[in-house]
Amino acid sequence: MTAFDGPLVDRFGRVHRDLRISLTDRCNLRCTYCMPAEGVPWLAKQNILTTDEIARVAGVLARLGIVEVRLTGGEPLLRPDLVDVVRRLALIEGANGPLQVSLTTNGIRLERVIDDLVAAGLERLNISLDTVRPDRFSELTRRDKFEDVVRGIRAAQASPLRPLKLNTVAMRDVNDDEFCELLRFAQAHDAELRFIEQMPLDAGRIWSRQSMVPAEEILEKLSAEFTLAPVAGRGSSPAEIYTVDGGPTTVGVIASVSAPFCGSCDRVRVTADGQVRNCLFAREESDLTALLRGGADDEAIARMLRQNIEGKRAGHGIDDPGFLQPQRPMSAIGG
Ligand code: SAM
Ligand code: SF4
Repeated sequence: MTAFDGPLVDRFGRVHRDLRISLTDRCNLRCTYCMPAEGVPWLAKQNILTTDEIARVAGVLARLGIVEVRLTGGEPLLRPDLVDVVRRLALIEGANGPLQVSLTTNGIRLERVIDDLVAAGLERLNISLDTVRPDRFSELTRRDKFEDVVRGIRAAQASPLRPLKLNTVAMRDVNDDEFCELLRFAQAHDAELRFIEQMPLDAGRIWSRQSMVPAEEILEKLSAEFTLAPVAGRGSSPAEIYTVDGGPTTVGVIASVSAPFCGSCDRVRVTADGQVRNCLFAREESDLTALLRGGADDEAIARMLRQNIEGKRAGHGIDDPGFLQPQRPMSAIGG
């Protein structure tokens, strides 16, 4: 029996098929719910996984049953070799054919690289947009980059990448008066909007249950202007999907806090500095870099990945009295 026999499964029977790789912890925005305004302790450059190391880890995970890879960060478009990373990953054979490679980005540099990304084999794109009001965007992200993001969204609209998704973190007294506007903006750009409940992952530790807008309230606000009908068949997707005014447009709500989807979680995460995390809220990490740079063979890497997944907890435990926010902010874990 080798470490490659059988699926990557945890103690609760969850089979892991989805890999999230953070390509960098750096970012050209400073969203308040994610990063502090200044004083971020950056990962050391020499600790960031190289393209070869990323491709090797993804190759081992593909042999363990991973079929999808999402690239994230920090801001993945800041990585100079991003196109190369996509090309390498898209050539890796998984159980169902080549790995499906997707990207989550703030959209700022997208216009410049989207054609190259498509040519390299990128299949899907999620762009984050929390407001359609330029002033509010500057306040929320602490950078004056709204027009760059909109240009990125237009470039994505003109690309063959579908479904194109826009992600909005719902925040009380910040953007909860423009949910309908955001949905109209998404419709006008051929995109599917996904609202995400705010999670306690900010470096500034400002999260509170009161500041988060729960899924129920998001739906209530949208229902003031749109007729929503639930779509069945969610699978392992974290989003509940609704058709908008009879379709074909849909809107999704990811109730990460009020109705966690941990029971069907199939994700493995690798941080930019090569730490394996089996949950956004994991308290332990496994050090892949040490293995990769210490001459370990694929069998040893696969064994460590299996051990990490075996230790996955049943849920994130945000509601547990002993809940501890992870040491790393979201930008350093990879959303
Ligand atoms: N920089 C890219 C971006 O913003 O799309 C990728 C990384 S970002 C960490 C990935 C996703 O995580 C974004 O959609 C962002 O809105 C979301 N996110 C960050 N902090 C969050 C929080 N505290 N709660 C919920 N979602 C969060
Ligand atoms: Fe940067 Fe994305 Fe975090 Fe915003 S959410 S600060 S764009 S990593």
